[in-house]
Amino acid sequence: MKLKLCTWQEVDTYLQESDGIIIPIGSHEQHGPTGLIGTDAICPEVVAHGAGSREGIMVGPTLGIGMAQHHLGFAGSITLRPRTLAAVIHDVVQSLDRHGFRHIYFLNGHGGNITTVNSAFQELYADFSLHGGYGAEAGFHLKLGNWFTGKRVTRLSDELYGDRNGSHGTAAEISLTYYAYPEAVKNAELEPRKAPDGSFRDAADFRRRFPDGRMGSDPSDCCPEHGERLFEAAVADLIEDYQQFLKS
Ligand SMILES: [Zn+2]
Repeated sequence: MKLKLCTWQEVDTYLQESDGIIIPIGSHEQHGPTGLIGTDAICPEVVAHGAGSREGIMVGPTLGIGMAQHHLGFAGSITLRPRTLAAVIHDVVQSLDRHGFRHIYFLNGHGGNITTVNSAFQELYADFSLHGGYGAEAGFHLKLGNWFTGKRVTRLSDELYGDRNGSHGTAAEISLTYYAYPEAVKNAELEPRKAPDGSFRDAADFRRRFPDGRMGSDPSDCCPEHGERLFEAAVADLIEDYQQFLKS
């Protein structure tokens, strides 16, 4: 179920059966010469919608802009500051909690969001610990899951790409976007074929170390067929993890 396609009465009815929701969260940033700018938002969105339609899980709007300051050296990348992203998470959780959503699962597509989103969760819990009074407990349960670290996806990524998957502009995420949007498959020269790996600080430093935008990846054999297999693996991982989360 997609929240954006429901009426408020349908949401009320859903809440009588379930208090869970999945919110895809991603980023809008460069992904190298063959990766789409929207990769990190597209991947969790299609996986969440896959799980949502199969299991009747409510899926909220995709938060498509994340914390990507280090990609601003490349055209088209957009970032929120960490504190802006944390404020967005805070307000989204409080809005959903007001309606009775108690299990709020953020399905993430971007490693750069992880620290900030977990920090936002701690702010929300701190409100209760500091101001809730003795014995007060937050009604909501929050979880951040990464579509790309589930056990089935990890096993398949290793099988398909091994150490050529990389850590940014990964072969797995690019294949998944090619499955979702076959009309957007890209072809470009990759030199070197496997990109360098390492750490970085700001946007200029990132661009100097990783000139074409990739980190550690070789996406030269990415294809929709690989993407379809990754999609099925990611949907199965998500359904399992979400159902476990609902029991918390
Ligand atoms: Zn990515």
